[in-house]
Amino acid sequence: MDPSKRARVESQVAEWLRYGDDLGLGPFYRDRAPIGSADAPVSAANVVAVEAENSPIQESFEVAPAKKSEAVAASSLPMIGGSNLFEGIDRLEGDTLAAIREFIGDCTRCKLYKGRNKIVFGVGNPKADLVFVGEGPGRDEDLQGEPFVGRAGKLLTQMIEAMSLRRDDVYIANVVKCRPPENRLPEKDEIATCSPFLMRQLDVIRPKVICCLGSCSAQTLLQTTQGISKFRGEWFEFRGAKLIATYHPAYLLRTPSDKRKAWEDLKFAREVLARG
Ligand code: URA
Repeated sequence: MDPSKRARVESQVAEWLRYGDDLGLGPFYRDRAPIGSADAPVSAANVVAVEAENSPIQESFEVAPAKKSEAVAASSLPMIGGSNLFEGIDRLEGDTLAAIREFIGDCTRCKLYKGRNKIVFGVGNPKADLVFVGEGPGRDEDLQGEPFVGRAGKLLTQMIEAMSLRRDDVYIANVVKCRPPENRLPEKDEIATCSPFLMRQLDVIRPKVICCLGSCSAQTLLQTTQGISKFRGEWFEFRGAKLIATYHPAYLLRTPSDKRKAWEDLKFAREVLARG
């Protein structure tokens, strides 16, 4: 094979393997020879099949769509009431995502503007039933102006696809729209300044389900200081939507053993969505 083509293929395969690693596709690594031969090109479907065969426990986010019988009865949802930061805020009549973006402008309202390249407004289906909310842009997002496009973003995309959805089907946004320096957590004043824009986005989209990714997002929307492990997987009412919090994909990259809990949360969200 010509060396430059070989290098390209090797780099693509390396990236693909890293991706599999992110998902905890352990069995695939050990057993990839039978499905990775030149005669039988590797595909995600192969991976799922091999994993399902080899692994007694579902480790990755590559899973089959929910069956009807898996649906949870509405009455069995543990709903927790209570106020949140935005309860008292009225919806703005006639608001649109474009109007919010225009209103944000070339924002200098908080100190985060000093280090940013691009404002990361949000991306996806403006009429999505499901919205994911992260904390704030990282380096890749700041450069590209789109949320969740780095390593954690790839995992989030896998999580979405495991729900039998495409990234384009959902909407993805963050609590703050500019990158905090060194990827630190957004600070209180930054959240207070920026989160009303997220709130307006949610009001315009009117999703059925909001999935908070990580503590910052869940604590902001639910106005709590409790750690996410205290309430992850439970349902909250949030201005006409159902809100669930799960682990942040970046945390899951560091702690793959918790992917299973996150998958339970997403399955739950999928059931709520399916119920309409
Ligand atoms: N982490 C987040 O919380 N949001 C992003 O957009 C990227 C990484």
